[in-house]
Order: sequence, then structure tokens, then C-alpha cells
Amino acid sequence: MNRKSLLIAGLTTALLAACGSDSDSAPAPTPTVPETTVPKNVIFFLGDGMGLTTMTAARIYSVGEDGDLTMDTLPETAFVKTFSNDAQVTDSAPSMAAYMTGVKMNNEVVSMSQDTKAVDPVVDSAGNRLGNNCGANNGTPATTLLELAKAQGLGTGVVSTARVTHATPAATYSHICHRDLENDIAAALVPGATGYNSALGSNGLDVIMGGGSQFFKPAKDGGRRADGRDLVAELKAKNYAVASNTAELTAIDGTKTDKLLALFTSSHMSYDLDRDPAKEPSLADMTTKAMDVLARNGKGYFLMVEGGRIDHALHETTAKKALQDTVAFDNAIKAAIAKAKVTDPDLKNTLIVVTADHDHTLVLNGYAKRTGKTAAGNAGVLGVVKNYVTGEADKDLDGAPYSIIGFGNGENRVQASRAGQASLDDNATSANTYHQEAAVRMGVGSETHGGTDVFLGAIGKGADTFSGTIDNTRVFSLVKNAAGL
Ligand SMILES: [Zn+2]
Repeated sequence: MNRKSLLIAGLTTALLAACGSDSDSAPAPTPTVPETTVPKNVIFFLGDGMGLTTMTAARIYSVGEDGDLTMDTLPETAFVKTFSNDAQVTDSAPSMAAYMTGVKMNNEVVSMSQDTKAVDPVVDSAGNRLGNNCGANNGTPATTLLELAKAQGLGTGVVSTARVTHATPAATYSHICHRDLENDIAAALVPGATGYNSALGSNGLDVIMGGGSQFFKPAKDGGRRADGRDLVAELKAKNYAVASNTAELTAIDGTKTDKLLALFTSSHMSYDLDRDPAKEPSLADMTTKAMDVLARNGKGYFLMVEGGRIDHALHETTAKKALQDTVAFDNAIKAAIAKAKVTDPDLKNTLIVVTADHDHTLVLNGYAKRTGKTAAGNAGVLGVVKNYVTGEADKDLDGAPYSIIGFGNGENRVQASRAGQASLDDNATSANTYHQEAAVRMGVGSETHGGTDVFLGAIGKGADTFSGTIDNTRVFSLVKNAAGL
């Protein structure tokens, strides 16, 4: 309910009270449902790197300038400041950790106190992360929303298209001085075993779903664990149902499953544009499966869902992949809202929050003529800028066309004059693998995050407490209070 509806509801109640609704003036007892019998659910959606320009571009790409993504329809919105404790521009670890813990920490630190220093892990020549260099007196764990939910006996789960040990999901269930320590982060998930995060109670998370099996498997089985442990086998022994492809996931009836571990790929899952649906499910299907499992807990649940690869496509400056992954993320939000409404039609007991952890440097150039959505034969927002009067390609000072989407920095920078780009057209710029041009030249895959505030949208229980421009640490308190965690 937004403020206006609340006001109207309040006014109606007052009027009814003043008029008297029947001859009996004694007030009717207010029917109350005992708090403990009502499940309370929180679904926290995080679009990694999904800045406002990426959201706008994804809207045009998917439904045209005048269409709406599901994210556009969320009734409550806010802007979020994302700077970290030591940096104007954050990485995913401290920004997600700020949402999860309310503590502003240093770049690369995962859900630890503010004084924690990020220390790179020991890495061998093959890039294997051998050991934890954090040091004995380097900060203390900061309690997360997921841990608070766990402490109340709620169900808990993480779903990501990235590795489930990557910074964003890691910040919900682990505490460590550096995000690259993914072997340690994976070990935090195995109840009772070495390295387990005991704040996850005696039985751990109920749902773990995404990519990244390499940090669960020993080196001899193609994994990257130097300690020889097989965490998939260990979790199986702890009664987790295990899936590794779409068919296996489909075969698992979530409504009859208490624990689910689904790791579909060795590293990150595929970009949605490249995804083989027989091998890897959509983020929407993963999300609704997780909701089935978690709904078995009568007290409710806390679920984190990450669109993890929007960020990676932006680092690579392949806009089409980033926009398609943003649409896949939006589809997951749509599916989650629809599913939640089946049992909670007005979302009175379900809070759904959608936000991003940081911006990137994607921009929309020029005064482009409206393109409508991208479809066969129409590049849409992925095309070159066309004059809104003549429909002809607009040219830069060097006489060359330029794409609507560009980047502040990235790998495709034309050195010197762009005159050689005279033949640039929609076919070139809308290709799946096209790297949009950048103002500042960087190495391959090294486009940076941006420091602009990000969008937050919310719907359901307590959603109307999100408004204005807020610090990322404030999101923690708002979710905690709205959900009663
Ligand atoms: Zn990120």
C-alpha cells in the first residue's frame, strides 16, 4: 500500500467510525491473525551492475520506449548511494554486504566489520587460490539479513546466474576478508564441517542454486579445491537433493523437497543469449523452484536472487548480452510476483525488493529517433543513431555514424580519427558479440563499474518505507524492519 492508499484507508475507517455502521454502537472486535501463523517472506532481487542506463536500454530493447518492464511497475521506488568505505566506486562485495549487514566496508570485503582490510589470497601460477591470507585479527563478521532470518527459523536460499560463491551471493551467507576466497566461501555452506558458518544454524541454507561447481569439487575431479574435499558429496550426505542440469532440476518436486543444491556449470552460468535451455534453466525457473522449496517452511523465508551476469557482459562491453540478461532478470521478478500472489494475493506478508549493487559506464548517445523494441530486422536500441527528422544515420565530427549505446571506458576505442568507421551500421552494432565503442581505452573485459546511484523498487509488505535517496546501508534496516527480522 502506498501512502495515498493508506491515507484513504485511514480516512474511510475514521468516517465509518464517525457515522456508525449499524445500530449497535459497540465496536466490533478486530479479527487478528496471530503473528506466528502468518509466514513472512522476503525476496531480495539484485541485478549485478544494473545501472539506470542499462535498465532504460533493456526496456527499449525488450518492449520499446513506451513499454514497461516488470521493474518499471513496482509501486515504491528509491535511489541508492553505492560508495564503499574506501572507494567512490564500489565492487560487488561491499555493496551487497551493505544491503545485507548495514555496515559500509572496504572494497572486496565480504560481510565483515568496517575495519576489515581486504587481503589478496595466495594464488599459484595456474591461478588456483590456495589459501586465505586474511590474518588472525582482521575484523569480525557482520550479521546478515539471511542469518537473521535463519535465527528466526525461516527458510533461506540463494539463487544466482553467477557462481554461488561469487561476491553477491557470498555476502548473504559468509564472512571473509576477500571475495576471491571462493573455496572458503563454499565451505561456509556445509553444515557442521570445517569452515562452516555456524550462524547458519544446525542445518544451513535450504536452497543453493546457480553456477560454480569448481569450488565444490576437488582438483582430481576437475574442481579447484586443493584440500581434496568434495562439497557436493558432503552436502548430499546432509540430505540435499542435487541437480546439475535442467532435466534433473525439473525432476525434483520442490514442494516435497527440504534441501536443494543445484550447480549447473563449473564457473558462471551462460549468458541468457547463449544459454542452452536443456542444460541450464532460466533464472525465472530457478526462482520459482526455490520458492516451492522454501514455502515448505511455515514461518516464511528469505530468498536472494541475483542476475549475476549483467555485470559481466557490461565489463566485456557486449551490450546485447547485458540487455538480454537484464530481461531474464526482469522475467524472474515477474514470475516471483505472480507466484507469491497465488498464496498471498495482496502481498501482505511478502516483501519483494529489486535493486542493483552499482552502476557501469553504459550510456545512450545522441538524439536518436525512436527505434521501438529489438526484433528480427530491427536493431532497436542496439543500432546506430538515426536522425529523428530524416531517419538517416547521424554522423560525428569525423563523418562516421555511431551507436546509440556506448561506454565511458572499454576495450573498443578507435584510436585517432573515427573516419574509418564510415560503414558502421545496425548489422554491425547489434551483433551478439559486438563491443560498443568507449571513450577511454581499457583492456579486454576491463570496462569499469560506475559510481552513479542505483534504482531500488519494492512491492508488498512494508514496501512503502522505501523512498527518497538513501545510503546502501539503510536498505538493510528498511528490509529488516519491514520484514520483522
Ligand atoms: Zn556487482
